Amino acid sequence: MSGRRLLISYAHPDDESFGLGGLIAKYVAEGVDVYLICATNGDVGTVSPELLNGYETIAELRLSELRCASELLGFKQVFEFGYRDSGMMNCDDNNHESCLWKAPQEDVTRRVVDVIREVQPQVVITFNKYGGYGHPDHIAIQRATTEAFTLAGNASYVTSQRPYKPQKLYYSGISINMVRLWVGLTHFRGQDPRRLGNNKDINIQAILDNVEPIHARVSIKGYYDKWQQANACHKSQGGGGGGMMRNIPKFLRPTLASNQGFTRVFPTPTQNRIDEYDLFAGVTAAEISSTPERELMR
Ligand SMILES: [Zn+2]
Repeated sequence: MSGRRLLISYAHPDDESFGLGGLIAKYVAEGVDVYLICATNGDVGTVSPELLNGYETIAELRLSELRCASELLGFKQVFEFGYRDSGMMNCDDNNHESCLWKAPQEDVTRRVVDVIREVQPQVVITFNKYGGYGHPDHIAIQRATTEAFTLAGNASYVTSQRPYKPQKLYYSGISINMVRLWVGLTHFRGQDPRRLGNNKDINIQAILDNVEPIHARVSIKGYYDKWQQANACHKSQGGGGGGMMRNIPKFLRPTLASNQGFTRVFPTPTQNRIDEYDLFAGVTAAEISSTPERELMR
């Protein structure tokens, strides 16, 4: 089956690999055209000074890491929105006039609508309502993408692109078992699960409190190595260990990472249970075989 298109709408250079590297590798291997929105440049990330050799700014380094991961994973196209990134909630960086958290939501939404209309994905993925672990940039792009998903097909919402209605919207899920294991390990190590990370601003108990139901569980078995290679591109962010997986003992990681869960937002589920094993399940054949309008216009 060809003509399948997936759009991932995320915030930072590294979110795509740490969060979805295995899933992206799987769908690209199966012939899906996978597109990425990366809304910020990663300016605020903490970076070891020696890694900045050869780069003018942190943003330049972070975007070059994203390009490394993009080539490895095989994105069809990456849309860099160029916003400055924000820090965790109540951080001074969040008052910067160019940061994503400060940007008017309608502006971000409009840009996402234009990407949806241009690439015409049947399936769109963004963060959950809590932005995974409460990061303001994740929440900002989640809100804009959720709004854009509906507006893209609305003919009265006029942009430079023609209306297009995607079929499915998912929020990337959080593995309750993995977070529970992480909370347990945190207690074991004598740490406070509500105050983790270099700046003590990661609250994994809050991640658990904000978990949303999973409706789709997709196997990514066989893509663990590729996932790790993509993570390794993001060296300045500790890549190589796998995002949240960094906190899990190495020998457990391939097993725990053998599938990935998603919350289906549209079409609205009738029950909160897993009823899909492929994000393209139910995507209509007519839609898949149709030629994107942009190709007809060439
Ligand atoms: Zn992020």
